[in-house]
Amino acid sequence: MLDTVLKEMKQALIREKKGAYSDAGVFGGFAMFLKEQCILLRNEANWSETEKAILDELVNLSDVYYRSDHQTRAEVLARVSTLLNKITLPPETVERPVIGHWGQGNFIWQEVAVIKGVGTKRRQQLQRLGIKKVFDLIYHVPRRYLDRSTMKRFRQLNVGVEETLRVKVRSVELLQPRKRLNILKALVYDGENYGVAVWFNQSYLRAKLRPGLELIITGKVQLSSGRWEVIVTDYEILNAAEDEPVHTARIVPVYGVTEGISQRIMRQLIFQTLNLIPYYKDFLPEELRTKYNLIDWRQALWQIHFPDDWSSLKRARQRLVYEELFLMQMAVSQRYIRSERRSGIAHTNEGQLWHDFVQSLPFTFTRAQRRVLNEIRKDMGQAQPMTRLLQGDVGSGKTIVATAAAVKAVANDYQVAVMAPTEILARQHCESLNALFEDLNIRVSLVSGSLSAKEKAKIYRDIQRGEIDVVVGTHALIQETVQFHRLGLAVVDEQHRFGVMQRDELLNKGDNADLLVMTATPIPRTLSLTLYGDLQVSVIDELPPGRQKVITRWVGEERREKVLSFIGQEMNADRQVYVVCPLVSESEKLDLAAAEETAHLLMDRFKDFNVGLVHGKMKSTEKEMYMQGFYRGEINLLVSTTVIEVGVDVPNATVMMVEGAERFGLAQLHQLRGRIGRGEHRSYCILMGDPKTEVARERLQVMEKSDDGFVIAEEDLRLRGPGEIFGTRQHGLPEFKVADLIRDAEVVQQTFDDARKLVQNKSNYQLGIFSELIALRFGNAKIS
Ligand code: ADP
Ligand code: MG
Repeated sequence: MLDTVLKEMKQALIREKKGAYSDAGVFGGFAMFLKEQCILLRNEANWSETEKAILDELVNLSDVYYRSDHQTRAEVLARVSTLLNKITLPPETVERPVIGHWGQGNFIWQEVAVIKGVGTKRRQQLQRLGIKKVFDLIYHVPRRYLDRSTMKRFRQLNVGVEETLRVKVRSVELLQPRKRLNILKALVYDGENYGVAVWFNQSYLRAKLRPGLELIITGKVQLSSGRWEVIVTDYEILNAAEDEPVHTARIVPVYGVTEGISQRIMRQLIFQTLNLIPYYKDFLPEELRTKYNLIDWRQALWQIHFPDDWSSLKRARQRLVYEELFLMQMAVSQRYIRSERRSGIAHTNEGQLWHDFVQSLPFTFTRAQRRVLNEIRKDMGQAQPMTRLLQGDVGSGKTIVATAAAVKAVANDYQVAVMAPTEILARQHCESLNALFEDLNIRVSLVSGSLSAKEKAKIYRDIQRGEIDVVVGTHALIQETVQFHRLGLAVVDEQHRFGVMQRDELLNKGDNADLLVMTATPIPRTLSLTLYGDLQVSVIDELPPGRQKVITRWVGEERREKVLSFIGQEMNADRQVYVVCPLVSESEKLDLAAAEETAHLLMDRFKDFNVGLVHGKMKSTEKEMYMQGFYRGEINLLVSTTVIEVGVDVPNATVMMVEGAERFGLAQLHQLRGRIGRGEHRSYCILMGDPKTEVARERLQVMEKSDDGFVIAEEDLRLRGPGEIFGTRQHGLPEFKVADLIRDAEVVQQTFDDARKLVQNKSNYQLGIFSELIALRFGNAKIS
């Protein structure tokens, strides 16, 4: 390792000479580089006294070089060159892996167990924090920091405040006033005055605190019988070697920890590990580092954990945010390029079938639908596989657009797969497709978990033989048993419920089939670049004509009676009503009981009407029965848990009452509300809620104010953050350690552009390093 560092330095020297001593031979400046490397070398091994002197001189020379004019620099550089050649490497003292490559097997890829002092127990504790590899540990960035950088004297201390000071121990006493309490008191001297440092229940320190020992203490200050007392929260024993303090006398990191790992232990562990990292050449391309003025990787890691000052911390963060988002976008870009380079199916025909389909529609397409449809038709007509995201608010008419795409595929003699997240939704798609295809001789089938084995076998056979044109189903579609004859188009509905993996599995049922992904969850731009950066986006930004704005009101419990009598009125006018109950408790049983109770109360209240209840625990056939009853108008009021969230289409439903509305997320409320306002009658959404927090109140106010899915999504992102909206990794969104999709929105865009450009301009070989890093950083998170 040392020889590589040395070689690097010599090469940099040559570049610097060629560059006319402009201090630009290395990114960040040659002088800085030289200095850093010499310090690095000096700490890395047991040098002889002569070598130490050489390295020290080199450190000085780098400063001189930095300050000098060009002529002097030439002389200095000559001297540097001579000195470098004089260095004889000592035998390596510490076993270290090969440096300079980021791939598997190097130090940061190793399990944390390679670190000295990490045994089985510690390993398990770390694992609880999601830390398995050295990499995870060094990227376990602090949650916050404590400023203990200002050292004071006793006379400068403020009572009641946490302060830091450097003291010498004079004497120690251990008191035990009660059984489980011991107090260690040290009389300490700051050079001017005496004071007392106090530790609770840390009697083991007694042996360490010898008179004469120097230490830095941090803690809250109090005055006790006219004396300064510091209740020590952290301390650092100063060794003669003048080690860098880790716990005090600096900006101190505060980590996410777990039982068995204290802040002290974590700090020590990370400090020690950072010291073990061998020298790597930064993996971020130099042009990008220059463009954004980003600091070096190693430096950034040191500064994010143990910042010299607040501005270094800021720069470290900037670098690591960029790096994190960049890697993610590299993954997305690779996907994109891969699909761009594939050759797929050119659906060139439209012919009579398409014509007949358009003729058979009971309405004409909106302008937005036409535009989007043209984009899709163009994509499908080309030999490159289509990878398109169709985004549109609830009720904007995505389904019909997807249906049209399906018709085009069928006109070209290909099969279509439509995957929906729930059984109910799949059924509904299947039904509406059947209705739309009535006179077109297109064969539609449902693949459903609730079919008998015999039915399944028959359908699978028909699919394989190509006797079914359009196959609709849930996840059941991606099972191995389902095999297509000629899959030409895959449609994925409500994409945010599926991961990228499932998307791919469906596509793999064919040979480079076209892909159309639909989502009603409006996705703010930063997120869509992240989740769907590899897809082209089509947006339906217009609702079909005749839609009315749903009137939304947030009301408190005291208005329940009024609301109920309003519901009665609407039902008397033949309208239908949804009552939605939240998932409240951890236990589904309790939630169910609450929903059942609501249903019973409503049954009592509205004896002349039919009240139904659907919930997640029901058998799907039973659920289906009630949903169908509501669909046909036989059930007037449907109480449900959130199972109706997605997809159902009952134009006669005009009222939705949401119980415990403060418990729902914005996106979810918006989805729910999309169930009403689908017909000619004015519709009402009543949010019953008693929000306890400001954020919850704001959410309900947003719902009252806006019916624009994008506005709501942006607000949701702002109020809740992306993690909560998209839940787990399963939805394709990786967890970020440093970056924040809201705060760092600008960087999301930058890295998107930078990554795309890089992927287009570099060979796969040159990009190999990123595959390794992506794997390391995001594991197999389903982004690449
Ligand atoms: P989405 O899937 O986007 O939520 P749908 O495709 O289910 O929306 O459409 C909602 C309703 O609007 C359906 O009843 C559909 O028949 C109807 N619809 C779709 N497009 C139009 C249009 N251009 N004109 C009138 N009604 C339409
Ligand atoms: Mg839909």
